[in-house]
Amino acid sequence: MHSSAVVQSILNIALETAEDYDANSITEINIEVGKLNLMTTDKIKYIFDVLSKNTIAENADLIINETEVKIKCNDCSYIGSIDKANNKMSPMALCPNCGSPRVNVLSGYDLKIGNITIEKP
Ligand SMILES: [Zn+2]
Repeated sequence: MHSSAVVQSILNIALETAEDYDANSITEINIEVGKLNLMTTDKIKYIFDVLSKNTIAENADLIINETEVKIKCNDCSYIGSIDKANNKMSPMALCPNCGSPRVNVLSGYDLKIGNITIEKP
């Protein structure tokens, strides 16, 4: 999916949720982004700013939380989280136990909505 389409779908969920609660504005939106997702915080914020113009989410604070990467190694059977903090630019995950690149990424690419905070009239 195109990156702006992902942000649009997050915005849509926030707007629909706010509407269900008769909110007149959204003050805060939490987004969960996996550490392997290549969209930077700045890019997400920029796209959000553009898309939320003239909606009730226009002035919402966007809070972006990075979530852990979980892998399963095909060589040593390690299952667990890896720290991608030192290698943010590489989309490839390596096993922290044996260094193998033959891993299945169980989670880490996702970009999804967390909690939102709304304001009522
Ligand atoms: Zn391994």
